[in-house]
Parts: sequence; structure tokens; C-alpha cells
Amino acid sequence: MSDGIVYLVGAGPGDPSLITLRGVDCLQRADVVVYDYLANEQLLSHAPETAERIYAGKIGGRHNQGQDEINRLLVTKAAVGKVVVRLKGGDPFVFGRGGEECEALREAGIPFEVVPGVTAAVGASAYSGIPLTHRGITASVAFVTGQEGEHKDGSNIDWDRLSLGGGTVVFYMGVTTLRRNMQRMVEHGRSPNTPVALVRWATTACQQVLVGTLADIADRAEECDFKPPAITIVGEVVALRERLQWFEKRPLCGKKIVVTRAAEQAGEFSTKLSARGATVLECPTIRLVEPESWQLLDLAIRELPGYDWLVLTSVNAVRYFFQRLDTLGLDARALAGCRVCAVGPKTAAEVRSFGVKPELVPADYKAEGIVDEFARLDMQGCRVLFPRADKARDVIPGELKRMGAHVDSPVAYRNVFPERLPPETLFALEKRSVDCVTFTSSSTVQNLAAMLGEEMMLDMLKGVVVASIGPITSKSCRDLGLKVDIEPQSYTMDALVEALEVHFG
Ligand code: SAH
Repeated sequence: MSDGIVYLVGAGPGDPSLITLRGVDCLQRADVVVYDYLANEQLLSHAPETAERIYAGKIGGRHNQGQDEINRLLVTKAAVGKVVVRLKGGDPFVFGRGGEECEALREAGIPFEVVPGVTAAVGASAYSGIPLTHRGITASVAFVTGQEGEHKDGSNIDWDRLSLGGGTVVFYMGVTTLRRNMQRMVEHGRSPNTPVALVRWATTACQQVLVGTLADIADRAEECDFKPPAITIVGEVVALRERLQWFEKRPLCGKKIVVTRAAEQAGEFSTKLSARGATVLECPTIRLVEPESWQLLDLAIRELPGYDWLVLTSVNAVRYFFQRLDTLGLDARALAGCRVCAVGPKTAAEVRSFGVKPELVPADYKAEGIVDEFARLDMQGCRVLFPRADKARDVIPGELKRMGAHVDSPVAYRNVFPERLPPETLFALEKRSVDCVTFTSSSTVQNLAAMLGEEMMLDMLKGVVVASIGPITSKSCRDLGLKVDIEPQSYTMDALVEALEVHFG
């Protein structure tokens, strides 16, 4: 007996977060993933790295021969005991040939399960603000292929009922046949003034919506060279879009924004930008690595009871410091006699996550802010531990020493830069399709310049909006010849997101 099984999984219409939990669960267990042109490739990241990934588009597109080959592939892989995920755009059983694949599997005696997905019509409906049914307007909806009848003498579609029934009609695969199908509906009795919407690449950042009527939508589509894949929604409900559209109204909709943070930190910032409609291009410019030697930090940690203050100026410093504490067999109790200063709310939250409450968070979230706060205290003879990055500015140790404090600033981690940019980001920069680049520390600017070469960076960022988190980063930008367009009043990610909204809104 083998454990081979095929899961036909609906990938949803495009937005990778629209897959079901069950779909993700199947992907996580997959040995083989056979995926379609319309299934978002980002979903493959749910599968184990070791899983075999096979693009079904290569196997044969829409032809029957190709379909036979896909069926055979599913059977052979599952027959040797593999867990196979057949990942299909939208829902497997809505114009997805899922039924045919199930028949082939059944014949071969291979077990299968079907996981539904958000079909394109439903995805397009939600993301274009066009309810498919609406009380008082339409009580039924039909999903219809736009290709039926084109290659055959007769048609399986009852055009009379479809046209006169008054319900919403959604055509799949109907861009190339748009004119003919719209004409047919009018010929069979639907009013030529019936509103129609074409929704292309629904639910993705490239979503495009074109609205017209049965009489003029084909002309309009031709005028702007409207291309597949798109859904055609026909019915009075289309008029609701004017009031109900939300997707395009998000403040950063359609903006391509490069995020230059360290890979492990970009997550939250990127999520916030995406939630506001931006397409985020990750561009890690910083890789964090251990110091060349732990010696100085270890020495300081062993002498923690002798320090009056621990100063932490980044989330990373917090993480590396507490990790090292742990490695040395210690925990938060080692800080019992020591007060803690965190540079800003994020750093403070990170400190709290290790069970320690910072005594001091300056009003101004930067090194100068910390210095100002300490200037109000009597620092004479105080011992301060300041675990820092290798390329940190000298403001804190310098100023605190002037106040009479003893400052030790061992390196807790180093910033190095990755050798190259992710291809997608480089491609977008080369194509000049980027709207904005964000810098959240001096190293992000300096490293990008080092990765691209200064001249190349300046050239690629011509006409691109430069957003910097604060004055120090902005100065680093200007030192390299970049003009800064956006700088929030307070130096936080949230403030930067807000400033971007204001700028592009
Ligand atoms: N099984 C899929 C449909 C596959 S047929 C589903 O349930 O959605 C392919 C057709 O689906 C395309 O020609 C187009 O009409 C539609 N389609 C799929 N994804 C789409 C998207 N993101 N935006 C608009 N139409 C889409």
C-alpha cells in the first residue's frame, strides 16, 4: 500500500492570501506541486523546499493532449507514494478541468481530495465592489464560459434564458470573444444599456477594471487594448461599483515601493504598506551577523551588576544582547541592578518581551534624544553599557563620557550587505517602474549604494520618490547625492507609513 494521494487545491483568484487554510495545509505536506499559469507562484513558498515543483503550463496549455499528460503525471507521481498537490487558479471545479483530473485519478485507483478555492468571479466581485447578487436588483447569477459555441455548430448555452432572465451573468475566458457574446445577449433580448464590467487580474496589484454597457464595452476594451485574463460581469449590479469600490481607494494603491531594510525586519513594514495597496519590492540591504569576537560583550555581561545603565538603540541590539545573555546561561535577572534605556517604542517593546521594563524611553527617538534625557540626570561616575552595531555613530558614548560617565560599547552584531539585489527588484528599478524607495537607516542607503554602485543608484533612482525615516538617514541620502522627498516628523516606521500615505494620497 502506498500513501500516494492527489489534492486538487484551489489557489484562489490571485491574491495569495485568498487560499484556504486547508489548501495551505496540503501544500505544506506536498512532495510534488503541479501548478498552473493562473495560480500565484508565491503560494509555492508554502511547500517544503524539497518539494518538486512542476509548472503545468509547460506541459501543454489548454490542449487535450496536454491535459492527458497532466493526468498521467498526477497518476505516476501518486502511484509511487508521493503527496501531490495539483494547484489550480480559482476553484478546481469551475472551468478548471478538475473534474477530468478526478476521473483520471479514479480510473487509476489513486485517492484524491478536492479543496475549493475562491473562483475568479467571486474574487473579482469582491475586489471591484460589484456584488453578484443584491436585494432588489438581482437574485441570481450565472457563471458562463465565453468560449462556448465558438468552435462548435451549436451552443450549450441557453442564450434566451441567460439574456432575459435578468440575473447577473459572469463570463470566464471571454475577452477575445467579448464583442460576439455582448451582441448575443442583446440579440436575445437584454437591454443594450445593461452595465458591464471587465475585471482583469482581479485581486492582484495589477487589477484593472473597465466599465461600460452591453452596447459599448467591446469598443472600449478595444480602445485600451484590454487583455486577458479577465472576468466579464454583466448586470445592473455593476452600477453598485460606483459606491462600493474600495480596492483602488486604498491610499497607496498601485504604488511600487522598494523596502530596503534587513530581510528579517522588513516583514511588518512591508505588511503595512501592502495593506494600504502598495506593491512592495523587498530589497534587503543589510544582513546581520555575529561580531567577529564576543569577548568584549561577554566581559561586560559578566560584570552586569557593576553597571548603572544599559542603553539599547535598536531592536537588533536587544535581540543580540539577550541572545548572548541566554548563551552565557543568564537571563533577565542579571539586569536586576541596572536601569535600561530604549531608544523608542519598538525597541522598548522588544526589551519588554524579554521580561524587562525599560526605565527610560526618550521623547525624541534617536541617539540625541537619549543624550538629552541623560543630560538631565547626574551621570558623573555612572557606568553605562551600550551594546551596539559595528558601524554605529559615536554620539552616545562621546556625549555620555563628557557628562562624566564611563561607557563601554562592545559590538553586539555587525551589519554587512548582501552581494546582490533580488532579481525582481533590480528588474523593476531597471525598467523605471518603481514609484518610491524607503530608507530606514543610514546603512540601508549606504549599502544600496555599495551594492549598485553610487552612479548606478543615482541613475536608477532618478524620478523615484525617496522616503527617509529621519534626519540622520536623510543626511546619508544627501551625502550620496539623493534628494529626500519624504521625512516624517517622528522617526518611526508607523510615521513613515503615514507620511507615504499623505504624499501619495
Ligand atoms: N478555475 C478558475 C477558472 C479558470 S478558466 C477559477 O475558478 O477562477 C480561466 C479564466 O478564469 C480566465 O480566462 C479568466 O476569465 C478567469 N480568471 C482567472 N483568474 C482571474 C483573475 N485573477 N482575474 C480575472 N479573471 C480571472
